[in-house]
Amino acid sequence: MKIEKAYKFKLEPTPEQAERLAQMAGCGRVVFNDSLELILSIARKQSGIIDRKALYKHLNSLPLAERKALNNLFPSSASLNKQLTSWKKLDNRLWLSEAFNACLQQRQRDLVDKGIKRWVKGKSGFPVFRTRKLAHHSTMRFPEPKKQLRINHNHIKLPNKLGLVKYRNSREVEGELRNATVSLNAVGEWHISIMCLVDIELATHVQGGMAGIDMGIAKNMTLSTDFCGDNGVFEGVHSFRALQGKLAIQQKKLSRKVLGSANWKKQKLKVSKIHQRIANIRRDYQQKATTEICNNHAMIVCEALKVANMSKSAKGDSENHGKMVKQKAGLNKSILDEGWGELRRQLKYKMLWKGGVYAEVNPAYTSQICCCCGHKAKENRTTQSNFVCVDCGHSLNADKNAANNILNRYLSELEQAA
Ligand SMILES: [Zn+2]
Repeated sequence: MKIEKAYKFKLEPTPEQAERLAQMAGCGRVVFNDSLELILSIARKQSGIIDRKALYKHLNSLPLAERKALNNLFPSSASLNKQLTSWKKLDNRLWLSEAFNACLQQRQRDLVDKGIKRWVKGKSGFPVFRTRKLAHHSTMRFPEPKKQLRINHNHIKLPNKLGLVKYRNSREVEGELRNATVSLNAVGEWHISIMCLVDIELATHVQGGMAGIDMGIAKNMTLSTDFCGDNGVFEGVHSFRALQGKLAIQQKKLSRKVLGSANWKKQKLKVSKIHQRIANIRRDYQQKATTEICNNHAMIVCEALKVANMSKSAKGDSENHGKMVKQKAGLNKSILDEGWGELRRQLKYKMLWKGGVYAEVNPAYTSQICCCCGHKAKENRTTQSNFVCVDCGHSLNADKNAANNILNRYLSELEQAA
């Protein structure tokens, strides 16, 4: 069986290489923006709206059918790819030839085949212009890495006169290269993400038993078994909240500086570094916790939670300024902090690697049902952490009860399917 495996390494370019990467990323942004401008000019003509802000507002409020109709007037990524050749001959775009053409074409595909497509389907707003000020806008994808790069022990050979770029080799790359993306982060470091297709053998004999996992705010993960963490409980590093005070102080200092000044830039870097630290601590915790769980179980079951939807609702929308928005924003910050979506992703692929089973079940009422007798009642939950069944009297930690329900639900689904 073939699965996708993702790698991410920190690049350690020489100053000359870093400059060239920045230049290439800059070309990418310009091509993205030029292509977007071209598309916007068509939308402008159709709607008669000149002002950019008003145009975006109009585009983002269009019903889906009208989005589709307008999209039919936009150029395809293939046609933009063709036009690119002539753009490079324009007096004010001659420097585009410094960039790697395949990466530039990829930027146009990203805009049309991802950005615009998502807007047409109503999944996101109309794509916005890329700016140097946002680090994640500096990115380049190598669509044919088998041809375009070579990986050896501690160097990656990149095209376009970049040559051998040193990288921090944290693990051996295996499998067939599918794509590679070089990108900048907020503290000015370049990374490469590589996607490989790996052939794995499904294990015929897998160690460990079954567990249901309840993911929560107070406790990050609670397992129905006691084998991992602290009796099956992973408190989680509330990295965001722990560093939040520090972040607030540095952010306040930033707000007092003159925007764009040397001191402002210095302070901005400080703020970015705290964000980076939060991300590192969280990443480290997640990797360790999911590895431990997968090493000790043959089957794990999680609730299918729609994390994206839950966090979206916090912002509210123009018609719906709910009273709970502020409260919800706090809760959602926690959800994002705990990174439930990422935990699921890791659990899933790690179980797949070892040949175990990963499954998800409908999350309805898992916190209200008694895992012993199946009685469902709001009153079963006496406090945040206590569960006492009003029917059979069974009492258990509320998270453990939910974790058991999650596992039981999947097992009964299996039974029904058989
Ligand atoms: Zn009961």
